[in-house]
Amino acid sequence: MDTKYFNMKDKINEDKIYDSAQEILKGNLVIFPTETVYGIGANALDENACKNIFKAKGRAQDNPLIVHVSDINMLNKVVEKPSEIEEKLINTFCPGPFTIILKAKNIIPKSVTAGLDTVGIRMPSKKIANLLIKIANTPIAAPSANISGRPSGTKIEDIRNEFQGKVATIIDAGEVDIGVESTVVKVMNNKVRILRPGKITKEDIEKIGLEVEIDKNILGKYDGKEKVLSPGMKYRHYAPNTKCMMIYSKDEEKMISKIKEEANNKTVLIICKDKNYNKYNCKYKIKMGNTLEEIAHNIFSILRKVDKYNVDLVIIEGMEEDGLGLALNNRLLRACEYNYIKL
Ligand code: AMP
Ligand code: MG
Repeated sequence: MDTKYFNMKDKINEDKIYDSAQEILKGNLVIFPTETVYGIGANALDENACKNIFKAKGRAQDNPLIVHVSDINMLNKVVEKPSEIEEKLINTFCPGPFTIILKAKNIIPKSVTAGLDTVGIRMPSKKIANLLIKIANTPIAAPSANISGRPSGTKIEDIRNEFQGKVATIIDAGEVDIGVESTVVKVMNNKVRILRPGKITKEDIEKIGLEVEIDKNILGKYDGKEKVLSPGMKYRHYAPNTKCMMIYSKDEEKMISKIKEEANNKTVLIICKDKNYNKYNCKYKIKMGNTLEEIAHNIFSILRKVDKYNVDLVIIEGMEEDGLGLALNNRLLRACEYNYIKL
């Protein structure tokens, strides 16, 4: 298939979004930007189109897709009436980097929900994404645009080769804003359970007077024994081929000396905060930003580069676990396959 490429880095082109919406309605796949990461989308009501997402990504069949809607009307068409707590969450955090698991209506195909009776719903705030869904006038199922197991795509240059010829259209809007995927929550026993951390934090949800629980699989390794609430958490994710390790201490000097100790006598690549860059005197280093927001914005693109360095070991500076740091720890622990030293 010839893949159309629409450049909207500087300006939104509504005619081209209309063209992309027609591709969605024909049952084809479209890569489009959201505020979190790029999505690979299909008409969520078209079983065959959704199956093609699994094929294009090499995604496990039991890993359900998030369904993107443009507004509350569309949301009500695909899910049963939300509870009071769910409604409060929707009213506060949608549109935005937030996914809520709700009871699915029958019009959602089983391949989308992976056979579950629930479905993850998200209302993106990014204008291109919202327009695409609105013009297509159908919900769009869209996981992150990356081959399964690879870091999510945060700029088209990183993922173009993975999908060229497999999708009808690529809409390029430059680098995404946030850089990590949406916060996924499910309301259980009147509490909000975070299944996947993201930009909307535990603290943000507590601020609106709701009780929040963090799923234990977020920072722990899935032991294969219990049934996971979020099937995606079972899978190897974000990990480069090169061995990675993360080192963290609240005391920065302590962290830096431990990193130097681990790097000793090895060819390493160090991924560190900008302000610590000059403290390491090894040959290969990458700056990841200073704030949690900057790190979130840069980290997936950095993880995609590390295999090019041909080093024995990649060492990543760790960060605190609260706020957006929980999402970063969740992704980086997977990238390091839980190879983590916390002092
Ligand atoms: P991705 O779209 O690749 O960013 O991943 C979607 C994430 O949402 C995965 O971790 C899924 O397991 C999770 N998810 C989607 N739908 C559901 C659902 N119905 N119940 C629980 N988790 C879900
Ligand atoms: Mg993904």
